[in-house]
Amino acid sequence: MVLNVRYSGSSAVVDELYPTSPVRPAAGPRDGRRVPPHLFDAWPAVGARIRLAERVVLLLDFDGTLTPIRDHPAQVTLDPLTRSQLEQLAKRREVKVSIITGRRQSDVQQRVGLPGIDYVGVHGWEGRDGYRSMDSTLRLMGQARRFLEPSIFGLPGIWIEDKGPALAIHYRKAEPASVQWARIAVRALTRVFEPGLRVVSGKKTWEIFPRFFPGKSGAVRAILARHPPGVLPVYVGDDTVDEPVFHALQGGITVRVGRKARTYAQYRLASPDEVRGFLERIDQERERRLATASSPTPLPV
Ligand SMILES: [Mg+2]
Repeated sequence: MVLNVRYSGSSAVVDELYPTSPVRPAAGPRDGRRVPPHLFDAWPAVGARIRLAERVVLLLDFDGTLTPIRDHPAQVTLDPLTRSQLEQLAKRREVKVSIITGRRQSDVQQRVGLPGIDYVGVHGWEGRDGYRSMDSTLRLMGQARRFLEPSIFGLPGIWIEDKGPALAIHYRKAEPASVQWARIAVRALTRVFEPGLRVVSGKKTWEIFPRFFPGKSGAVRAILARHPPGVLPVYVGDDTVDEPVFHALQGGITVRVGRKARTYAQYRLASPDEVRGFLERIDQERERRLATASSPTPLPV
């Protein structure tokens, strides 16, 4: 397993979404993305890799991956079937589960509520290997929020989520005219704070971070550094913020959830229901591995 360190992360993400992105993209790599095959069509090969790996590190996004997206993030709950499947996997000694999300760590921890899982919040900022939020970062993001608030105040359907070291501007329920005003405000923000901030477009959100923050790929790198070489990383995500990880994670299994689209991921799944099916299959493959290992060797005749 190798992480591609030549790729810094954000430019392709913003590039992909232009012109909806409020920030004109830097030139970024466009090649290498494609509409990948459905994961279950490739199962004989993928299943064998999962079965044969000494250890599997399962890295999962939350919204849009483990759960369907709702109008408001507070409405999202984890399906009990998915929870019990995660619980089953987390109990396996040779499978390590991490959930890496844009939500606050405490929020996702409470929504999943299982022991034995690593919860990584704010795209890698909060967690065991998370960034320390320095005073200067929090001050910068506080200034950004105070700059933005008056410009979007009163725009129906637009709201700011303050995550401490990051801000999310949500516009899922907003009319196009409001979205347009908010986009202008976010663009002005990045100009005024240039080059201190960067914006990544997600699903009906703009996520605003300090420029230096590496995001989810930094989090994945830190998690994998804790494991011995030879582990099999499996990364599942649904959004543009997951693309840098798909791109960087060479030698692992990467899956994008959602409708058919060009992506750096190797495989696709259609929905969180299919992700649950994938978790079941991983569990079955690991069970088969144990069964094979413990079956008695036939005696020579
Ligand atoms: Mg997501």
